Amino acid sequence: MKLPCLFQLRILKVALASLFGRPYTTAFPKGGYTPSERYRGRPRYDETECIGCGACAEVCPSNAIEMIDDIASDAPRRILIQHLDTCIQCGQCERYCTSEKGIKLSTEWDYVGFARKDFEERVEKELLLCEVCGKVLAPIDQIRWLVKRLGALAFCNPTLMLVSHSNLQVVDRGFDPGDGYPLRARRINIQCPHCRRKTAMTV
Ligand code: SF4
Ligand code: SF4
Repeated sequence: MKLPCLFQLRILKVALASLFGRPYTTAFPKGGYTPSERYRGRPRYDETECIGCGACAEVCPSNAIEMIDDIASDAPRRILIQHLDTCIQCGQCERYCTSEKGIKLSTEWDYVGFARKDFEERVEKELLLCEVCGKVLAPIDQIRWLVKRLGALAFCNPTLMLVSHSNLQVVDRGFDPGDGYPLRARRINIQCPHCRRKTAMTV
């Protein structure tokens, strides 16, 4: 009788260990599955922490984040839409998020849906427009974030000062002196840098 060789014995040992030991694979879909804490799953916005700056859309290598400035409506707003179907879960948006907490990769991995809309994550922010030319300035949350970071230095810039004080309801936003006054009369308005220069230089 031919005796089994060492290699065959080793295979037999592994087979017996597999038969009576714990399975190597997870029980999914019969049982649940908990991924590792460092698993890079579906990115999720945190509406209270996001300031709407759009940096995540700029750094996204697969253009999975769409940024729309809706200025046609009565309440101008910036809409950021993250499309999971084109996201490669690289984590760049989380890494370069200006507020550091606006978007985070979750550990969600078992997402399904029947329409592209099911794979969208969106956040909307009130948008601030220049009161002189009407161009987009920034989301109001971004301006408030900046005011907080600058502290007393924010008072050097009338736009930042006006936004922070309008929150306290001690100044009027959208002040219009009327046509009879020179452009300079609009210095104390919320303005884009271009209009700020124009109103400061015009006599
Ligand atoms: S994880 Fe990467 S691909 Fe996905 S939205 Fe963020 S930056 Fe874009
Ligand atoms: S705060 Fe972060 S998540 Fe929000 S728009 Fe800016 S970079 Fe994106």
